[in-house]
Amino acid sequence: MKHIFVLLTTTFLFVKNGQAQEVIQRKFEKMGSSFEITLVHSNPIYAQQLIDESIAEIDRIERLISSWDKNSQTSLVNKMAGIRSQVVSKELFDLILRANTIARLTDGAFDLSYASVDKLWSFNREEITPPSPSVVEASVAKIGFEKIKMDTEKQTVFLLEKGMKIGFGAIGKGYAADRVKSLLLEKGVEAGIVNASGDMSAWGTQPDGSPWQVGLINPLNKNKVFSWFPLLNTAVVTSGDYERYLLMDGKRYGHIINPKTGYPSQGVVSCTVFAPKAELADALATALFVMGSETGIDFIDQLPNVEALMITDNGKIIASKNIDLDENI
Ligand code: AMP
Ligand code: MG
Repeated sequence: MKHIFVLLTTTFLFVKNGQAQEVIQRKFEKMGSSFEITLVHSNPIYAQQLIDESIAEIDRIERLISSWDKNSQTSLVNKMAGIRSQVVSKELFDLILRANTIARLTDGAFDLSYASVDKLWSFNREEITPPSPSVVEASVAKIGFEKIKMDTEKQTVFLLEKGMKIGFGAIGKGYAADRVKSLLLEKGVEAGIVNASGDMSAWGTQPDGSPWQVGLINPLNKNKVFSWFPLLNTAVVTSGDYERYLLMDGKRYGHIINPKTGYPSQGVVSCTVFAPKAELADALATALFVMGSETGIDFIDQLPNVEALMITDNGKIIASKNIDLDENI
């Protein structure tokens, strides 16, 4: 996502304990979005190999959670909706379990099963004729995380009703960013940032010891960063309506669906969440869009180790209680 980016304040080469530490960066396209991996390492050739391994890991995750790939485990779960349970890998099972925990926590604002209404809307930045209310209602009836039955012993997932579907659009990139960070940590990389199209997982510091900095841009005023935040072993994720949206009666609606109504969300243009893991931040950023700014920030204020900042379509910036905007601007 374009209104969030990282500031590198150090030169790309820095000597630490007698060893030259370099900042190695690569941009690439995956999961239909742009990724960027930034590593601090003394061996740039090895660092490039690690980026290759990271890309292979992202491909693997995409094959697991993709709804486009007819043979993915996710597609099989969807195909068997209303028919029977489907055995899945432990990894996918656990991801769905965690997603359902967030669904419960957000009272269904984030819900993997939103996907049954996905086909009703196309977010091509154009004016559309809305589907008839009865069609929307029929699709909404298929939504409901409590109808995703999971059997821990058998490691199966069963979507109870025909026509139900799950989709990982709101959590997949965050999960991928976390996985790549873990992989790189296991390989001994002491510092870096994985940026999955604005879903960022950071660890360590820049070579000179200063923290990574992330800049937020107000989509309503794209020319300047309105706030800088240090990233200290945290993840930061932004959901925005500026890339995928549609117009109805000249009004703008973002690509996040309110699972209770089946209609696209309105009112929030950008939502940034800071959390220990990108997966959690990703799911919460999507949920906040549905909750709206006031309910959303109230909700975040009840959670430990999570902060958020939202921008409404009338230009209001609202932040959770531990963010001091004056200090960060
Ligand atoms: P994000 O950019 O992380 O907010 O994800 C947005 C994407 O998540 C959309 O393009 C959909 O694929 C999916 N999505 C939309 N609405 C919801 C929802 N209420 N709960 C879960 N996923 C959703
Ligand atoms: Mg999300």
